[in-house]
Amino acid sequence: MANSKTEHLSLICDIGELSNLMSESKDIDNFLQQVVQLVASHLNADVGSIYLLEANSGTLVLKATVGLHPDSVERVRMELGEGLVGWTLEQMAPVCEGDACLNPRFKYFESSMEERFKSFLSVPIRYGAEKTGVLVVQHTDANYFTPADVLALKAIAAQLAGTIAHARMMMTLTPSATTAAAPGMPAGMRMFKGEAAVHGFALAPAMTMRSSDPLMEDVADDQFHAGLKDFRSAMAKTIDQLHQLQEQMVRRLPESAVLIFEAHHMMLKDPRFVQEITQFITDGLSAPAAIRRVARHFIGLFEKSANAYIREKSKDIEDLVRRLLFNLRQQPMTGQSPMDGRIVIASQLYPSDILKLASESVAGIILAGGGVTSHVAIIARSLNIPTIIAMYPDLLTVPYDTPVLMDADVGTLYVDPSRDVRRRYDERNRALRKTSGRGVKMAPETRTRDKARVHLMANINLLSELELALKLKAEGIGLYRSEFPFIVRSDLPSEEEQRLVYERLFDKMDGRPVWIRTLDVGGDKVLPYLDTLQEDNPELGLRSIRFSLKHRDIFDQQVRAILRAGAHSPSLGIMFPMISSIDEFRTACQTVRQAMAMLTEENLSHHPKPKLGAMIELPAIVEIIDELAREADFLSIGTNDFTQYMLAADRTNKHVSAYYQPYHPSVLRALARIIQRAAGSQVPVSVCGEVAHQKDFVPFLIGIGLRRLSVDPQFLPALQRTIRAMSVNRAEEYARQMLAASTFAQVEQVRKEWDWGSDSA
Ligand code: PEP
Ligand code: MG
Repeated sequence: MANSKTEHLSLICDIGELSNLMSESKDIDNFLQQVVQLVASHLNADVGSIYLLEANSGTLVLKATVGLHPDSVERVRMELGEGLVGWTLEQMAPVCEGDACLNPRFKYFESSMEERFKSFLSVPIRYGAEKTGVLVVQHTDANYFTPADVLALKAIAAQLAGTIAHARMMMTLTPSATTAAAPGMPAGMRMFKGEAAVHGFALAPAMTMRSSDPLMEDVADDQFHAGLKDFRSAMAKTIDQLHQLQEQMVRRLPESAVLIFEAHHMMLKDPRFVQEITQFITDGLSAPAAIRRVARHFIGLFEKSANAYIREKSKDIEDLVRRLLFNLRQQPMTGQSPMDGRIVIASQLYPSDILKLASESVAGIILAGGGVTSHVAIIARSLNIPTIIAMYPDLLTVPYDTPVLMDADVGTLYVDPSRDVRRRYDERNRALRKTSGRGVKMAPETRTRDKARVHLMANINLLSELELALKLKAEGIGLYRSEFPFIVRSDLPSEEEQRLVYERLFDKMDGRPVWIRTLDVGGDKVLPYLDTLQEDNPELGLRSIRFSLKHRDIFDQQVRAILRAGAHSPSLGIMFPMISSIDEFRTACQTVRQAMAMLTEENLSHHPKPKLGAMIELPAIVEIIDELAREADFLSIGTNDFTQYMLAADRTNKHVSAYYQPYHPSVLRALARIIQRAAGSQVPVSVCGEVAHQKDFVPFLIGIGLRRLSVDPQFLPALQRTIRAMSVNRAEEYARQMLAASTFAQVEQVRKEWDWGSDSA
C-alpha cells in the first residue's frame, strides 16, 4: 500500500537530516546509498535508485541502489532521452508507470535484473537550471504508486538537489578531473573555482575551521602527555594573547573592541571551568582531553539556552578551546596565534568571526560552505582580507599547513600550488605592484571635463576606513552603515557605546557632512544575539526601518546616540533605510523629534536641527518621489536594494543573479524619473549603491542629472578620474540612448558602442 501523507512528511524531514550528514561526510557513495535506502523504505518500494548525470560525458549513471543488483552500480548507463530514466531527465518531468515493461521507452539492463518490478516512478533532480540526475523507486506490484507518491518524490528530489549537486561536483573533483588534466599541472595540486568576494591575493599555509574540530577527540591526545603545569602555562599564554589581540582591536576596530573576546575572558575567569579541567588532569586525563571534556559540557549548557545571545556564545568556547590546545602543543613558541598569517578555510562565518580573524592577521579567507551574508563580505572588504567563496566541502579536509594560493581577483584557488603556478603569480603580482601606485592622489574637488561639479562622498562600514576616506579627500560620508557596530558584536551596544563610535565619525570628518543611516538589519543582515522572528521571506519582512519602528527602544537609543555624538557637527544627516511611504518617513522623523525633546529635558547636549533623509530603495517610492523630496532634507538612492526590489531578485542568491540587473531598462528609467522629479525640490540626491563606482554606470548617472556619489573609499581615485574624463554633454547623450532602449540587448548595444569600460571607476 502506498504511504500516508504523514509518512511522506517524516521522510522529507529525514532527508533534511541527511543533507546535514552529507556536509560532514567524506564518503559520497555511502551518502547516496543512505539516500536510496531511506527513500525506498519510506515509500515502501522494493527498489530505490539514484542516477547522476556525468558532467563530462553527458551520460546518466546508476550511482546507488537498493533492490537492483549491486553490480549494476556504475554499469547501468544511458544517454539523455534513453530508457524511462533518460526520458525523465530529458523531459524534466516525472514518469509514473503502472507496468513499466509496457512502455515502449522501457529499456532493460540485464545486470540490474529489474524486469521483476512492474511499478516505476521517477523524478528528475535539478539544481537551478542544471539537470543533475534522476531519483527512481520501483515495486513488484503493478499500479502501486499514487499521485501523492509522485508529489512526495518530487519534494524529496527538490530538497536534496543542492546536496546531490555538491556530491556530483565532489565526484568530479578528483585530481584528474580538475587541474591535473590541465597541461603543466602536477598531480598533487588541485584547483578550485569559486567566487571572489573580496579582491586580493594570498599565498599561505592553510588552516581549516570545521566547527566541530576543536572538540573532537584526537588520537594524538593519548600520546600527548601534557599535565597540569603545561595546562597552566597554556592558560597564561592564552590570556596574554587575548590581551594583545584586544589591544590590536582597539586600534583597528574601535567599534567592537570592548566585547569581542568577552566570552573567552569570562570562561577563563570562571572557576568551574578551570577547576574542572584541573580536576580531570589530576585524576589522570591528559590536558587536551580534559579541556575538550569540560568545554563540551559548557557548550552543551550554552546550546540549550533559550536565549539566542547565550547560544551564540558557544562558538566562542570552541574558539577558546582551539587556542588552549594550540598553546598546549606549541609550548616552546611564544607570541604566535593559531591563525596568524594563514589562509583560513571555514564552512560558516559570522561577521564577528571575520573580526577575530582580522585581529589575528589572517592572510585570506575561503568560505567552503554555508551561506554568505552581504555583511560578511562587506566586513572582509573593509578589513582588506582577500576572500573567496568556494562551495566545495572537501576543501574543509585540506590538511593543516598545506600551502594554498588564492587569487581572489578572479576567484581561483590552488591547494598545494606547483612551483610553476607560484612563479606565474609572482610575475603577475610584480607587474600589478608597478601600476597600482597610480591614482592615490586626489584633487579636493571633482569636476567633469566641462567643469560641472560632482560631489564625491565615502561609504563607511568600519571606522578603520575613515583614514583612507580622509586621505582621499572624501567630501563627507554619504553612507555610514550604522548596523556594523551592532553586527560585529555579540550583544546590543548601549547608547553610550554607540555615541563613542559616532563621535569618531564627526571628529574625523571635521565639519564635512556625515550622513548616518539608522540600523539596517533584517533580511540577510542578522543580529545573531537577538531572538527575532524567523521569517519565511526575510527580504520582504521586518527589515531596516520596519525593524526600528517595531523595536522602538533600540531605535530611540540609536537616535539619541547620533544626536548626542553630533551635537556640534555643522552638517549631521540621519537617514532612514527602506522607506516605503511618506507616512513611514514622518513616523521616523517624529522619533527624532521626540528624542530631541527628551534630551533637552534631560539637559544633555545634542544636535538642534539634524537633516533628515530617506533612502530610496523601494520601487514604491518612485510614484511619490516629488512629495517625499519636498519633506526630506536629502535623499540617497540605494541602488543595491532598489534593483533587488524592482526586479524581485535576491541580491545574495546566485541562482537568480542573472535577474539582478541594474542595467534593466526599467531600473534605468526609474532612476531617471527619481532624479528628474526630485530635482524640482532642490534637495541633495546621491547614489550610494555599488553602481556608483561602475565605469559605464557613472556616465549614465551624470547624464540623468545626478551630481553626488558615495562609494567605498578605495574606489574614490578611479571614480574621480572617470568623471574628469567625461563631459556632461556626452553623458547626457549616452543616458538618452540608454533610456531609449527597451531590451537588455539594446542596452548592451549602447554600452558597447560607447565603450566606457565595465570595471570599477
Ligand atoms: C543599497 O541598498 O544600495 C545600499 C547602499 O544599502 P546596503 O547595500 O547596505 O543594503
Ligand atoms: Mg540597502
